[in-house]
Amino acid sequence: MTERIRQVRSHPSQNEPLLFELSSPGKRAWQLPALDVPPVDPAAALGEENVRSAIEGFPEVSEVEALRHFSRLASWNYSIDLGMYPLGSCTMKYNPRVNERAAAVEGLALAHPYQPEALVQGALEILARLEAALAEITGLYAVTLQPAAGAHGELTGILLVRACLEARGNPRQRVLIPDSAHGTNPATAAMAGYAVQSIRSNERGMIDVDNLARVVDADVAALMLTNPNTLGIFEENICRIAELLHQRGALLYLDGANMNALVGITRPGDTGVDVMHLNLHKTFSTPHGGGGPGSGPVAVIEHLEPFLPVPRLKRAGAAWTFDYDRPQSIGRVRAFYGNFGVLVRALAYVLACGAEGLRQATLDAVLNANYVRQALLPHYELPHQAPSLHECVFSDARQARRGVHTMDIAKRLLDYGFHPYTVGFPLIVPGAMMIEPTESESKRELDLFIAALISIAQEAEESPELVLQAPHNTRTARADEVTAARKPVLRWRPPSG
Ligand SMILES: *Cc1c(COP(=O)(O)O)cnc(C)c1O
Repeated sequence: MTERIRQVRSHPSQNEPLLFELSSPGKRAWQLPALDVPPVDPAAALGEENVRSAIEGFPEVSEVEALRHFSRLASWNYSIDLGMYPLGSCTMKYNPRVNERAAAVEGLALAHPYQPEALVQGALEILARLEAALAEITGLYAVTLQPAAGAHGELTGILLVRACLEARGNPRQRVLIPDSAHGTNPATAAMAGYAVQSIRSNERGMIDVDNLARVVDADVAALMLTNPNTLGIFEENICRIAELLHQRGALLYLDGANMNALVGITRPGDTGVDVMHLNLHKTFSTPHGGGGPGSGPVAVIEHLEPFLPVPRLKRAGAAWTFDYDRPQSIGRVRAFYGNFGVLVRALAYVLACGAEGLRQATLDAVLNANYVRQALLPHYELPHQAPSLHECVFSDARQARRGVHTMDIAKRLLDYGFHPYTVGFPLIVPGAMMIEPTESESKRELDLFIAALISIAQEAEESPELVLQAPHNTRTARADEVTAARKPVLRWRPPSG
């Protein structure tokens, strides 16, 4: 009983029971006035089989209990509003509130995709301006806003490659993907019907151009490249790589998830990229995480434009209209026109920053990553020594000698009040600790994060058990993540006995 009191009464961020455990029979969270019309027998109206008098194990709580339960749970959420998110590759940055205001404007938030074109000219203008802005930023010719996420953009992009090569007479067989790539790249190539050929990175974490020259033949459709790559390293030979592919009739696909390192500094189109996707929910300031709506626009060179998904926006005199008459198009990749609210936020962000602001954001993101990198260098192993851009990848090699691994260090960060970095990715770095601070963080916040990691490195040296048993200050210590993913328990059952 005392244990029960402790559980229910302790700090709201600790040990909130399940709603089922708060239940007591007969409690209700609602109250209705007595009927002033004759009652109807539900079984007679709906059929006996559609009516139940009770639901087994259904929680019965009062309104205030339900409200407090969910408010307490909500207070456990870690968010960018609460602290730094150093997750590498994800670009978890702050999303200025003014973009939310723009997306919430009634005429935009309540617009319906079936409204006649004449009544949504403003919304179409937003789409057209965003397409133009993204084409300018990427240095490419045309943009589709339809794909709903980065991986969806990849699939769209590789389907465009296939359509283009098919139109030339041969879709080819293979797509080349560096071993440092995001897992969605090989999945995309396979879904688009290509065999995946993995290519090794050299000791500096870049593509070995001589090796590439050997493997690109008349069967290769494309190379899918992430630049800067997942180590945060810029492919110095990008122009040479593009040339090599083009000489042999293959295309260069760019995974643009790391555009936060390039915007305003360099344009992929100028480096020979034929097709790429962007993650608006990474680079262009839409909040993400928790599976919320994303957006993965695809930008292409002029030669690929006829294959873009239908419909395409088109000027008809003074008005915007949708063009469905595009015989070479790969077709729709999504219902309607994309995740519109995300597109509004992206345009608001681009316009609020302006060219100078976008460039400054990139410079700040790169500066922050290099600041972290430099400060942690004496304490953690940095396997690839090339200069990094917006993220850096350390490894747990030094701590592993004391039995402490990247997951343990990440768990210990929780005790210091930080969200962990990306654990164990990219796969080419054993024990990877991947950190991307983004431009959102101040020097003060970065210094605290660095101090936490330095302190954990000392703990790993002096008292490794402390790190191995972390976290100590959270509600649950170490969940069994594998079992949780493979055998999720989604249904509550009353405890037996
Ligand atoms: C996030 C990411 C993707 C996939 O994007 P989603 O929007 O999550 O589908 C692809 N490649 C890289 C390098 C990424 O970081």
